[in-house]
Amino acid sequence: ITRYRLVVVGDGGVGKSAITIQYFQKLFVTNYDPTIEDSYIQHAVIDNELCILDVLDTAGQEEYSAMREQYMRSGDGFLIVYSVTDTQSFTHVVDFYNQVLRKFQKTLLLFSLRESFPVLLVANKVDLLHSRKISEEKGKETANTLGVEYIETSAKEPPLNIDAAFHKIVQIIRNH
Ligand code: GDP
Ligand code: MG
Repeated sequence: ITRYRLVVVGDGGVGKSAITIQYFQKLFVTNYDPTIEDSYIQHAVIDNELCILDVLDTAGQEEYSAMREQYMRSGDGFLIVYSVTDTQSFTHVVDFYNQVLRKFQKTLLLFSLRESFPVLLVANKVDLLHSRKISEEKGKETANTLGVEYIETSAKEPPLNIDAAFHKIVQIIRNH
């Protein structure tokens, strides 16, 4: 069985834990400790193929934990999350993308010749229509610039595109 190691990155408060826990536990967390960095493992059937998803929900930006270091190095795919209600988190998408890019250039030089990386840009909290600041057009524009795919999600009930986001990154890895 193929095991996919995925890393969820993005600014604090954008919903990385909410997305991960909604996927793995089917519930919406509203006050998950922002400092907890944890990994989750589960079987999944994606496009009729059984696989194992091993997901690291990262936390904090300044210090790289040993666990994060390991996942960044061995990660097969990355979900870069921002909140559509938080302009700064959108600005930081490029920084996270560059982190991923550096990782690939370090691990395998050949990757630097590629035009795309196994990254999915995740625009979260789209249920918050009134406080939305980053439009779908702006999100897609950045995704195009970076050469990555784009998906809009909400971890809040009823969840939107949460399963789809994890399925999509696996498809991206498989087609990479
Ligand atoms: P993290 O720091 O990126 O892990 O962010 P959290 O997952 O802890 O989420 C931060 C806050 O945003 C929490 O209060 C969540 O309940 C809330 N949140 C996360 N995702 C969504 C979403 O899709 N919609 C709404 N309305 N709130 C969300
Ligand atoms: Mg968190």
